[in-house]
Amino acid sequence: MIENNFRYLTFPIFDRHKGDLIAVFSTRHGGVSTGIFESMNLGFSTGDKKENVFQNYRIFTDNVGIDFKNVVISSQYHHNNIKVVTEDDIGKGLIRDQDYEDVDGLITNRPDIALTTTHADCAPIYFYDPERKVIGLAHAGWMGTSMDICGEMVRTMHQTFGTNPQELLVAIGPSICKDCYEVDIDVKAVFDELHVGVDELVTFRQETNKYYLDITGINRKLIVDQGIKPENIYLSDYCTMTNLDLFFSHRGHKGRRGSNAAMMQLR
Ligand SMILES: [Zn+2]
Repeated sequence: MIENNFRYLTFPIFDRHKGDLIAVFSTRHGGVSTGIFESMNLGFSTGDKKENVFQNYRIFTDNVGIDFKNVVISSQYHHNNIKVVTEDDIGKGLIRDQDYEDVDGLITNRPDIALTTTHADCAPIYFYDPERKVIGLAHAGWMGTSMDICGEMVRTMHQTFGTNPQELLVAIGPSICKDCYEVDIDVKAVFDELHVGVDELVTFRQETNKYYLDITGINRKLIVDQGIKPENIYLSDYCTMTNLDLFFSHRGHKGRRGSNAAMMQLR
């Protein structure tokens, strides 16, 4: 049974560019999956029936104006490897096999290629260069963030397509928030060693004896460090872990969950 309440998110920072760009994030609503995957599960490696995920991709792309055949999905490994996606890659990860691995960031300047990353607490980060007409999409959990995947994205866009960071627009989508993202001291230590000045974005709470990461804030800082104007960065208010009716959350659903997807395409 298909739910009729299909819902997805867009980002105000890209509103002016609607004619040139699609940049969306899925919610759990409007798909065909059931049980813990209810209903718009867009993750093939979640344990859900493959045909249901496939059908969900059909429904989702139809509803947001993307051609199903043009989807290219990342091969996420919590790393900072970036792939420049070309026509040769169209369909990979959905209707064709992937011939790449450990790719958490995708970039392209080709219209009609729908870059796709999947998420369940980790941040989706959207990059758009309106001058050179280049897009990028990254998946950033604490590991990718600590490896500065955003810096790699901006550098790759600059080196490959001549993107000027001053012109870049960025949106950081829904992810687990700074009040929910509990980590142990070993993770805190990783960020200490980076010397990127994110101390104020990692807090300690006596009650739980744990550290809390502001993954959105840390990525925002790393993006500003690349020369992007602060006013050109949009931060989503949504926490995935406290909006379980809207999003799949790895922590909120204790690992038994589907995946949300971020998609970005030049028209
Ligand atoms: Zn939260």
